Amino acid sequence: MAPTREFAGATLSVDLGAIANNWRNLAARLGTSNCAGVVKADAYGLGMTAVAPVLADAGCGLFFTANIDEAIALRAVLPSVEIGVLYGPGSAEDAAACGAHGLIPVINHLDQLIVWRNHAKQTGQAGVAMLHVDTGMARLAMPAAEIDHLTAHPDLLDGCRITHVLSHLACADQPGDLLNETQRQRFEDARTLLTPVVGSEVTWSLANSSGIFLGPPWHFGLARPGAALYGINPTPGTPNPMRPVVQLQGKILQVQHVDSPQTVGYGAAHVVKAPARVATVAVGYADGYLRSGGGLAHACLGEIRVPIIGRVSMDMITLDITSVPDDVARPGVQVDLIGDHYSVDSLAADAGTIGYEVLTSLGNRYQRNYINSPLAAATS
Ligand SMILES: *Cc1c(COP(=O)(O)O)cnc(C)c1O
Repeated sequence: MAPTREFAGATLSVDLGAIANNWRNLAARLGTSNCAGVVKADAYGLGMTAVAPVLADAGCGLFFTANIDEAIALRAVLPSVEIGVLYGPGSAEDAAACGAHGLIPVINHLDQLIVWRNHAKQTGQAGVAMLHVDTGMARLAMPAAEIDHLTAHPDLLDGCRITHVLSHLACADQPGDLLNETQRQRFEDARTLLTPVVGSEVTWSLANSSGIFLGPPWHFGLARPGAALYGINPTPGTPNPMRPVVQLQGKILQVQHVDSPQTVGYGAAHVVKAPARVATVAVGYADGYLRSGGGLAHACLGEIRVPIIGRVSMDMITLDITSVPDDVARPGVQVDLIGDHYSVDSLAADAGTIGYEVLTSLGNRYQRNYINSPLAAATS
């Protein structure tokens, strides 16, 4: 567990019950297709070692991390789940670590395949791996030419056992984008080409969180949601079907009454007209509160939305709380920076980014509370 930070200026609450509920919600939408859990980047900043056991308890048996360190940390808390490592094995050392910890590397190109095959040969291990094929990202995955090469030389897979073939959607959060159907078709084509090579037992997987909402043709045998588990809206522009997971609260340190017009904060970037009240809250960019939210983002006192004025400092933000009654906004009172009336997605939109970046930027200076854990030995 993260150490308690009793005197921290801000508190991050992570609703583990909501995460479990979100996983079940997605799993139910998938019907007979399976549902994995993506926990890379410390479960999108929320704390992988707290989150993953809750997902496992909800029924998740397959997890994805980006790198091997994350996967080893996950293995330490979940000894018997399947763990896919998205970066794959770039070296013999990577392969050895995957083998030692029972991780399933994702093979993203032919060099990685050779590394993994050599490892399997040398150790006599089964060479269990997943294959990631490119269908439109041109990022980390096997390009079409390499898929053709593999199809023509199936012996390249000797000593490996492929359990899953993956691909990743570029525009799943925009259901109207034609690339979704194009990628789905390319994935079908890859399936036709590769099935004779990898075998018919293999599980196929295309959808991330938003991909699940594109509908059954995108579901294949397995979906790999991350963001939606953590309360980010997988269907932007329509109501969020997921439960909110994160509440972030910051403490008011001071309230200043402004009697004559004056500027607020660094760069004198904001002018308040008197009479007004300005509250300073104990959170800043060093906490991962994005500096780009200065002058644009909001906070909430109860249901009242108050604007952040001026720049975000390292440890502080300033709010115009003129609209809030005096007795509601006093030093020591907590304001919601993310909460029921201001979602992760709203903050992200105001700050010019996406919910993913808001969550993965969350620093380690907050007091962290894990609430509503469905596990018997609840995290405290
Ligand atoms: C991050 C990632 C996911 C999860 O995507 P979300 O949009 O967070 O659901 C799935 N698959 C791959 C390959 C990824 O890199």
